[in-house]
Amino acid sequence: MTAAPLLTVGNLQAWYGRAHILMGVDLQVGRGEVVALMGRNGAGKTTTMKAVMGLLDARTGSVGFDGRDVSALPPHRIARLGLGYVPEDRRVFTDLTVEENLEVGRQPPRAGAPAWTPERLYALFPNLAEMCGRRGGRMSGGEQQMLTLARTLMGNPSLLLLDEPSEGLAPRIVQQMADAVRALKAEGLSILLSEQNLAFAGAVADRACVIEKGRIRFDGPMRTLLDDEEARRAYLAV
Ligand code: ATP
Repeated sequence: MTAAPLLTVGNLQAWYGRAHILMGVDLQVGRGEVVALMGRNGAGKTTTMKAVMGLLDARTGSVGFDGRDVSALPPHRIARLGLGYVPEDRRVFTDLTVEENLEVGRQPPRAGAPAWTPERLYALFPNLAEMCGRRGGRMSGGEQQMLTLARTLMGNPSLLLLDEPSEGLAPRIVQQMADAVRALKAEGLSILLSEQNLAFAGAVADRACVIEKGRIRFDGPMRTLLDDEEARRAYLAV
């Protein structure tokens, strides 16, 4: 028997005003699995993540996390249960140092998993270690993206929602981000990441879900998507 998925999203629908954006999204993330939610600009990736996190009021459908229905909970309660959300736009405290930014994110450890500390995070992100005394406002966009991820990890999540982690990063930083995602998977974290970059997603994800106009059009092994030129051309910008 296979273990129940950590995240189960069923018939998720969402609206912005009168615009119906998510038309019934179904997806799952297994324990220890990295799933890439892929799709073109405006397909509904960010909206899916926000809806899972409880950040949208106009939403129907089910969101199950770790065996519990979280669809009616506010975002801070969902976060406390172990869902860490790293939004597309960087969220660092510009007046605080790297180390202080990390401390802001500190939450109690999760049973059965070692707590994240600044030291462990510096081992994962060596460039953050080099600038631990620098203020957030004096970092590049890519460095701020790393810091936002590191600060979210200080909350000891069991599932990470990473919205477009490679977007706008210099190639060298994209590589570091891919290495970090693989290291987090090796630590046992489950990850749902939204991506348009097929090379990045292909390098880190076990499975791909492709969303188009608010509906999942493909759900299968990443390898299958990489090998399926027709699906890639139909649903992705490649
Ligand atoms: P991107 O890569 O551009 O972020 P995405 O797949 O994440 O794409 P979403 O941001 O989820 O797409 O957007 C889905 C649709 O919802 C788009 O048509 C977008 O214009 C619309 N949309 C997003 N945010 C809002 C908003 N605050 N108000 C109204 N419409 C919105």
